[in-house]
Amino acid sequence: MLRCAAVRVLRGGGAGSPRAASGSAVAQLRRRLESELEDIRGAGTWKSERVIASRQGPHLRLAGGGAGAYGAAGRALGFFPTPVRRPNFSLSLPAGILNFCANNYLGLSSHPEVIRAAVEALEKFGAGLSSVRFICGTQSIHKDLEEKIARFHQREDAILYASCFDANAGIFEALLTPEDAVLSDELNHASIIDGIRLCKANKYRYKHMDMQDLEAKLQDTQKHRLRLVATDGAFSMDGDIAPLREICQLAQKYDALVFIDECHATGFLGPSGRGTDELLGVMDKVTIINSTLGKALGGAAGGYTTGPKPLIDLLRQRSRPYLFSNSLPPAVVGCASKALDLLMESNAIAQSMAAKTQRFRSKMTAAGFTISGKDHPICPVMLGDARLAAVMAEDMLNRGIYVIGFSYPVVPKGKARIRVQISAVHSDEDIDRCVEAFTEVGRERGALP
Ligand code: PLP
Repeated sequence: MLRCAAVRVLRGGGAGSPRAASGSAVAQLRRRLESELEDIRGAGTWKSERVIASRQGPHLRLAGGGAGAYGAAGRALGFFPTPVRRPNFSLSLPAGILNFCANNYLGLSSHPEVIRAAVEALEKFGAGLSSVRFICGTQSIHKDLEEKIARFHQREDAILYASCFDANAGIFEALLTPEDAVLSDELNHASIIDGIRLCKANKYRYKHMDMQDLEAKLQDTQKHRLRLVATDGAFSMDGDIAPLREICQLAQKYDALVFIDECHATGFLGPSGRGTDELLGVMDKVTIINSTLGKALGGAAGGYTTGPKPLIDLLRQRSRPYLFSNSLPPAVVGCASKALDLLMESNAIAQSMAAKTQRFRSKMTAAGFTISGKDHPICPVMLGDARLAAVMAEDMLNRGIYVIGFSYPVVPKGKARIRVQISAVHSDEDIDRCVEAFTEVGRERGALP
C-alpha cells in the first residue's frame, strides 16, 4: 500500500500532485458540462441534427432509419423498408422526404454545372492551400472570384472569407475605433452582434426596423466621428426586408454609412438578383455588403465583403478572420464562381423561385394561415404557441415533409412558427403537397377552423 503510494508520488500521480489536480479538474469540467447540457434539454431548446444521406435538394434521403428523429416518420411512410445501419446507409435509402428547410433558394447546391466546376477546380488547383491568403494561399481562382463578386454587386472590390460569420466578425473591428459609432437593428444575425462586440466603437441598438428609433439614435451619435448603420437586408426568422430606402435617407440626413448583411438576399432579390439594395433601388447608397456563398450561391461555404476599394484593402491588412484563417478550398471557390456565372447569364432561376414562393404564400393564406414577411422565400407559418409549432412540425414530418418549428428563445415568446423555405427546384406539385399537408395537420391540431 505504502509502496504504491510512494510510486504514485514518484510518478506524479499522488494526491495533491499536478496530475491529480488536472484529473479532478477534468471531472469537475465533466460535471459542469453535463449539468449545462441537462439544463438545455430541460429548457426544451436542445437542437438535434438530422442525418441526410443524399445531396442537398428538394427531395432528401435520410440516414439511419432507426436512430434519428426521422426513423419513425420514415418507417411510417415506408421510406425505410429494411433497417439501414450506418455507415452503409448512403446508397440504400429510397427518396422520400420533401425538404422545405434549407437555404438552397436557387437549388444550385446540387446543380450539375456547379458540381462539375467544383470537380474541375479540385483537379486543377488541389484540395486546399494549407496557408492563409497573405502567406501562400492566394490562387488565380480566388482573385477571379473576388473580381466576379464585386462585378455582381457593382462594387469596387471584394474580399473572401471562410464564411459570412467570419466576414461579420472581421469587419467592425477593422473599420471602427472608439471615436466611431455603430447602430445595429436589434434582430440582426448573431454574427453581426458578435462582430460588433469585438469592436471598440460606441454601440447603439435600434428597435427592429423602427425608423423613429434609428433617427433618435442617429441624432445621439452626431458627436462621434463616423456612424455606421448595420442591418440584415432580409431577416431570416420573419422573412421581412429591411426598409433600406428609409435607412439610406436617414443615413444621408445624418451623414452615416450603411452596411447590409445579404445572406438571405444575394442571388434572388431584386430584378436581377443582386439583393435587397437592388430590390429597393438603393444600390448606390449602401456602402458595404457582407454576404455568404453558403446559401443561394451554390451552398458550399464561404463569405465576403464587397464595397469601396480602400476598405477592402484595409480588411486584407487588418481583418483577423481573413489574416489568420486558411484560404477557401478551390472546390468551394469553383462552386461559387459557377453559381455567379449562372446568375449573371440569366435570372430565370430566381424568377422560378419567386413564382413558387408566390404560389406557396397565396395558397397557404387562402387556406387560412398567416405567413409572415412579404414575397420572400422564407415563409414563416405563424402559429403562436410553441407546443403547437413543435407537434405540427412533427406531424408534417410524418407526412414526409421536412419543416422546422421555431419557438422562444429563437423567436419572441408567443410568436412560435414553422419556417418554410422555398427553392427554385421545388416543383409546383411539391408546393401543393406541402400546402395540403399543412392544411390537414392544421385542421387536426386546431390551428385552422
Ligand atoms: N448572416 C446571416 C443573416 C445568416 O443567416 C448567416 C447564416 O446563417 C450568416 C450571416 C453566416 O453565414 P455563413 O454560413 O456563411 O457563416
